Amino acid sequence: MSFPKKALRLILLLGSMAGTALAGPQKPVRPPNVIVIFADDLGYGDLSCYGHPTIRTPHLDRMAAEGMRFTQFYVAAPVCSPSRAALLTGRLPVRNGMAGKQKVVLFPYSAGGLPTGEITIAKALKVAGYTTGIVGKWHLGHLPEYLPANHGFDYYFGIPYSNDMIPARNKSYPPMPLYKDSKVVEENPDQRGLTKRYTDEAVAFIRKNKDKPFFLYYPNNFPHEPLLVSDAYKGKSKRGLYGDVVAELDWSVGQVLKTLKEQGLDKNTLVIFTSDNGPTIQDVHRESGGSAGLLYEGKKTTYEGGMRVPAIAWWPGTVPASRTCEAVATTMDLFPTILNLAKARLPQDRELDGVDIYPVLTGKADKASDVVFYYNQTDLYAIRKGPWKIHFITRSSTGKEAGVVQDPPLLYQLEVDPSERFNVSKDNPAVVEELRKLYADHTRTVKPVPLQFDRMIENHAR
Ligand code: MG
Repeated sequence: MSFPKKALRLILLLGSMAGTALAGPQKPVRPPNVIVIFADDLGYGDLSCYGHPTIRTPHLDRMAAEGMRFTQFYVAAPVCSPSRAALLTGRLPVRNGMAGKQKVVLFPYSAGGLPTGEITIAKALKVAGYTTGIVGKWHLGHLPEYLPANHGFDYYFGIPYSNDMIPARNKSYPPMPLYKDSKVVEENPDQRGLTKRYTDEAVAFIRKNKDKPFFLYYPNNFPHEPLLVSDAYKGKSKRGLYGDVVAELDWSVGQVLKTLKEQGLDKNTLVIFTSDNGPTIQDVHRESGGSAGLLYEGKKTTYEGGMRVPAIAWWPGTVPASRTCEAVATTMDLFPTILNLAKARLPQDRELDGVDIYPVLTGKADKASDVVFYYNQTDLYAIRKGPWKIHFITRSSTGKEAGVVQDPPLLYQLEVDPSERFNVSKDNPAVVEELRKLYADHTRTVKPVPLQFDRMIENHAR
């Protein structure tokens, strides 16, 4: 038996009205928990679900199978500090001051840090009623005023910068501190135990805060070199020590997801896994650096290998499973996306560089913004719009030379040529013109701010 369409629609309408009347006032829906896991220097080609032939990452592969794997996901800078600042603020480093003319990141003798006037995801979510925690590498200023407690985090366990900034590497560096909240609880911790300790802290944070909305930012220090791993993973990977370290990181992600399932939080938690920049591929690092897969170059460059990173989104029931997403997206998109999910207010008094990618995450849209700005320190080196990428300046990660101005600029069609092999600028003068105009329009929106990386602690030997 079949109803005429109009009658069916009427029955459905009446039914839904009755449902509303019976249900009474709606219970407030609890906003989702959010976890961002950030690897350090993990390349686009370093996971098995991104094609690595001998590194095994079963937990991340399962996360991708249960969620969405991005193939065109970017960071805002090809090195640690500015990339992290952009993720947490949704703003380019040239806007939040996390850049330098001399220095590319913060060091143990730096006097600067993320300005406290910046609004981080943690700060915005705390106002919206979230409990906020960070476990791992901060690298946004180690002096007291810049520590996580002053950027909206209720809880901190970790080290304030990179794992190679240790006295064993540079005698002028102080002992590397391990923080619990704003107190140093240990110096020069044994890094072989770091991933295990971070995992325990992350799991404990989730368990402790399961009854109210939380935001957990988990930037692990690895696989940044020096590579250190616990005995349980040492010598296990065919890829060598680098593979061992990635396998332990993979285990750690698995523990986080397992905890969410055990606590019944999986259906109400968005988890994002990604990396802060591309792999170190300089000769000096030899086998201790990762792989950008089919992408050209690596860390410290604005080629794809430096700034396109693996990224997986997981939220069972909301993010569709087994989905490969080709939409262009960046870490700066997480700021508006997460704030909107938390019903937090988006700041209106500053330029934001991300867009809300919730429609992409839920599979309802296949595109958000398709523009990427590739900065190296304070200079805009390249721009992507749609499939086109133009390089105005290039710099290799292996040479020490400053940037080389490309005039005429280089143009690549990334959907056809992701490895940036064939310069097609001569054949596409209209595209070059359009991207030149975009360069001019964009740079007009960037106002000069104090640069944090070039400020040093006075009289510090280095
Ligand atoms: Mg890094």
